[in-house]
Amino acid sequence: MEPGTRPSKPPKTPNPSPLRRQRALALIIIGAALLAATVVFAVLGLTARGANDATVQQSSISQILALADQHKLKSATLAGNTVTVTASDGQQYVATKEDGQQLTDYLRARGVKNVSVQKPADGTPGWVSIAMDIALFGFLAVLVVIMLRRSNSGGGTSQAVPFGRSRAVRFNEQHPTILFKDVAGVQEAKEELQEIVHFLKYPDKFEKMGARIPKGVLLVGPPGTGKTLIARAVAGEAGVAFYSVSGSEFVEMFVGVGASRVRDLFKMAKENAPCIIFIDEIDAVGRQRGGMPTTGNDEREQTLNQLLVEMDGFDKHDNVIVMAATNRPDVLDQALLRPGRFDRQVMLEKPDLAGRKAILNVHAAGKPLAPTVSLDRLAYQTTGFSGADLSNLMNEAALLAARRDRELIMQHDLEESILRVMAGPERKSHVLTEAEKAIVAYHEMGHAIVMRTLPGCDSVQKVSTIARGMALGVTVSVPVEDRSLIRKTELLAKLAGLMGGRAAEEIIFGDITTGAAQDIKMATNIARRMVREFGMSPLGNVLYEDDGVGPQVAAQIDAEVQYLVDQAYTSAKGILTEKQDKLVAIAEHLMRVETIDGAELDRLLFGHEAIHMAERVEAEDESDEPITLEEVSRSA
Ligand code: ADP
Ligand code: MG
Ligand code: ZN
Repeated sequence: MEPGTRPSKPPKTPNPSPLRRQRALALIIIGAALLAATVVFAVLGLTARGANDATVQQSSISQILALADQHKLKSATLAGNTVTVTASDGQQYVATKEDGQQLTDYLRARGVKNVSVQKPADGTPGWVSIAMDIALFGFLAVLVVIMLRRSNSGGGTSQAVPFGRSRAVRFNEQHPTILFKDVAGVQEAKEELQEIVHFLKYPDKFEKMGARIPKGVLLVGPPGTGKTLIARAVAGEAGVAFYSVSGSEFVEMFVGVGASRVRDLFKMAKENAPCIIFIDEIDAVGRQRGGMPTTGNDEREQTLNQLLVEMDGFDKHDNVIVMAATNRPDVLDQALLRPGRFDRQVMLEKPDLAGRKAILNVHAAGKPLAPTVSLDRLAYQTTGFSGADLSNLMNEAALLAARRDRELIMQHDLEESILRVMAGPERKSHVLTEAEKAIVAYHEMGHAIVMRTLPGCDSVQKVSTIARGMALGVTVSVPVEDRSLIRKTELLAKLAGLMGGRAAEEIIFGDITTGAAQDIKMATNIARRMVREFGMSPLGNVLYEDDGVGPQVAAQIDAEVQYLVDQAYTSAKGILTEKQDKLVAIAEHLMRVETIDGAELDRLLFGHEAIHMAERVEAEDESDEPITLEEVSRSA
């Protein structure tokens, strides 16, 4: 990434805006309040001390001790060397004892029930305390002023955020500018946003044409597909300021805060136009209204209304573009999507093969890759990865290589990182008993063998009995190719694959474990969607919505879901029973080596090496040497 090519508009320091004047006024009010408080406290302190002084009689330690000996003391207070006592007749005496003189026990032994020991601060004369109070208030006042100044100065990120102030983060010249070239594999989105860039750069051109300038652009796509990144790139390309705020921040704690934050944000943006306001996770505020009337909703509704008001409120001269991101466009309030608001939508999808390669290339920049590394092959192995996953993958690989004291990042650092990104880092500390290890090995082999046997299953990349994230073992598989349509037979095969783990446990151990919980959850979800959304059951080609079915139909749906999963289980069990000797042999091997890759699995299962997609690429790319099994098991 390069530093900014075009500096954004300098902060308007010498220009006292109405907002500034307001702040100055606020400052004066706060200052006056502090002064008043100081005076009041000081006067109170004086009177309190004065009153005290009137009743206390100066005395000496020996006199006090004499009183104690006569059992004439009710209570005593020791503060440093100052001893204050109350006699039986209510008279108070104060005296100064010597350093190190222990009085507490002496007094208690003589029937003084109330002996309290305080910090010595009371000994200081009244005016010193008052001076200290004033100093403290002064200090606080200065602090407040500094904080206000800072948040006032506009540049950088706003540090102090009084309630109701927008917490928007402004990216400017100090932050690395993101350009379109940093966002890979999303050509269409870039083309659509290019117009916004033009508008921000040359607003006059558009105005002369009488064109209606878009105000709001909604970026829609799953997490990690680069929504934030591309919004920043639009700002970077146009060379304008970028204010980023998250929808969830609007909806915090106090009623009314969200709305005033929105107001503040837009005000700030208009002062710094041209610029981009970016609202991340807009669904946090922009959900459909009129749901359950709860307090939380009220707050959100107010915020949303304010947002709508602000968006309607500015015109084409304001030169502010609002961009927002969501992965749930379906839950957004329709009012947000009306013309003049977020009327443009730009989709960001998970990258396809070419896209993944391009993104890997972007994130490989500045990382020393071994000449044998094939990003092509890596792209093949990462179907379904988002841009964020891929960026993560490159980073994990760099970390691994550094930890292994390598000069260059090797292919198997990268491939091992696939597993880390998918399933989390290994949990070396997690100790399994031998019996548990066996169960995990058989369970995972059950998945792997069913998946490798049934056509239509994802290709198995790796089987491992090393605990990762929440899982005790993993079978890593990726779709053979990027797919938009999935056949019913493929879904059935997937269900069987998911059931393979538990089926293996039952065949081998005659008992089952809790290890299949996640598999069951995933299988149930798939089966449920097959029945309710995809029309893949005898219940027909009808959409059964969550809340739209009566109890009878719901029962039928449940029965169909159960049938699908049961069938899958039966099918998995059939395959594994037939291949039981292979299952035993390979699972025992897996227990020893802990990790097997797809090629070795094929060799052990079929006695030959089936050609994997990844290896086909490798064959095309002759400069790359194949990764050996030894390397894989060493690295895992
Ligand atoms: P989103 O906002 O959609 O959740 P982000 O923009 O926050 O995703 O992406 C997170 C990170 O993932 C980015 O900072 C970037 O490093 C990486 N990334 C995502 N998409 C891309 C892409 N298309 N090209 C390059 N890097 C990407
Ligand atoms: Mg984001
Ligand atoms: Zn499992």
